[in-house]
Amino acid sequence: MIDGGERHVERGEMDLWYRDCPVCGWELPVTGLYGHGVRRHGFVAKDWERYDMGRLVCPACGRSVSVSNIGNHVGTHGGLHECEVCGRPVPGMLLDEHMRSVHPTPCIVSYLGERCCSMCLRPLRREYGRVPFCELRCPQCGAWWPLTRMRLGAGAMDVEDDVWLFGDRLDAYARYCLRLEDATALARALHRLGGNHDWPKQVERIERAVADDDMGTLDRASDELERLQGIMSDELAGLMLTPEKRTTAARRRMAAGETARMRLR
Ligand SMILES: [Zn+2]
Ligand SMILES: [Zn+2]
Ligand SMILES: [Zn+2]
Ligand SMILES: [Zn+2]
Ligand SMILES: [Zn+2]
Repeated sequence: MIDGGERHVERGEMDLWYRDCPVCGWELPVTGLYGHGVRRHGFVAKDWERYDMGRLVCPACGRSVSVSNIGNHVGTHGGLHECEVCGRPVPGMLLDEHMRSVHPTPCIVSYLGERCCSMCLRPLRREYGRVPFCELRCPQCGAWWPLTRMRLGAGAMDVEDDVWLFGDRLDAYARYCLRLEDATALARALHRLGGNHDWPKQVERIERAVADDDMGTLDRASDELERLQGIMSDELAGLMLTPEKRTTAARRRMAAGETARMRLR
């Protein structure tokens, strides 16, 4: 039994992160145990004592922690993250290891709000100056994805060669990349200027449609982006030229400055 003292815990002791519910046998992450007891079995803290689970070993630091508090406590060590690939809750400190051992082919995962390489957990960078000329690349291991594979869970290209498309396909891809870059820049500019807040989402929607379908919708996506670009350009011109709008924008900038100043105090 654990007497409140500390216990040496190996970083890789995955089994400590999961426990079986003593009533129904479900395997749960330790952080979810107490809530499960409340919801499924009407448990309060002392019910866990009957099963000798009133206190549990923190899988990260080895301290003995009450079952009702272990969720909060483990949170101080980085908590559990749902693996973007398999959906399993994985301790933040073991995510790296989990990806390497369970998902050995690099794929795109979301980590700390960024699209990252699953092997290195480094944010993917947009690369230019290659053939085809743009792609996402992991700055650490070099795994790469064409812009048509930006969805979460998409595996990296398994060929070393950067040239993976030929002829018409390459032209279609290049056109799509250009349109996407331009439309993204325009949508952001409009959003900054206080124009339609929906533009970035509309561009993303097209991006997602292409990612879901890989290459099938390239030409249609390019046409759609070109159409949006036309409308956005008009809106941008309108925002820049209308004196009334300019006044509004200037006023908004002043208001923003005021807010920033107030925050400084
Ligand atoms: Zn249960
Ligand atoms: Zn701990
Ligand atoms: Zn996983
Ligand atoms: Zn990587
Ligand atoms: Zn907005």
